[in-house]
Amino acid sequence: MRKIILAGNWKMNMLNRNLEQFFSELETSIDGGIANASERIEMILAVPATLMEKAVKVGEKCKVQISSQNIHWEKTGAFTGEISAEMIMETGVETTLIGHSERRQYFGETDKTVASKVSASLDAGLKIIACVGESQKERESGITEQVVGRQLTAILKAGASKTENVVIAYEPVWAIGTGLAATSEQAQEVHKFIRSEIEKEWGKEKAEATRILYGGSMKPENTKELLSQKDIDGGLIGGASLKPDSYGKMISIGSSSL
Ligand code: PEP
Repeated sequence: MRKIILAGNWKMNMLNRNLEQFFSELETSIDGGIANASERIEMILAVPATLMEKAVKVGEKCKVQISSQNIHWEKTGAFTGEISAEMIMETGVETTLIGHSERRQYFGETDKTVASKVSASLDAGLKIIACVGESQKERESGITEQVVGRQLTAILKAGASKTENVVIAYEPVWAIGTGLAATSEQAQEVHKFIRSEIEKEWGKEKAEATRILYGGSMKPENTKELLSQKDIDGGLIGGASLKPDSYGKMISIGSSSL
């Protein structure tokens, strides 16, 4: 059985001085306690680089793993402003997001750079949550599978050597930060397609074992419905993960829905 992941993406938010309060409020907002929840689901928070070191320490007490939001594909060199996989791992972080749509949209990430980041992360020993998703225009043009399939192929080819460390996040761009989540049927349809593409590339066993998260305006109100879908194995949560009570509620729902 695939263990549910509820991963938060804090984007460019939060300061070190607010971390303790966040985690203490999170602990009190989870029904049955955070230790009990952590046996049923994996909790991950993707934080800005400035928070990583402290978040690893504070998060450990709460059984929350900390993730980076990005890495550079080279190990070292003249890449001003960038951070390598090894640098991230030095802080105790074990996971990174790759190819979030905001990185593709605002920082020019392409399937090629995403693939390089997948290889660099896995080679360094990082686990990855790699993101795919279509824009509103692409959905309306009926090319969702074409777009998601293309993005996915780049990730799957680069990740073939360490499939156990790869998680895929389906994040329709039109649903991110808009309050307009995909319906559970829309999400399940694409998740099913993603699992079938993984099967083509990696085989049935690995496709069955790979976690596929949904992201895009996920919140306590739609968590149960989304998690009840056969191919949805958790969520990548932006705005709602910044509020400890909302994230805590989603964790409570996730751990009781099993
Ligand atoms: C995200 O940033 O990956 C995301 C899904 O954001 P939100 O939940 O705010 O839509």
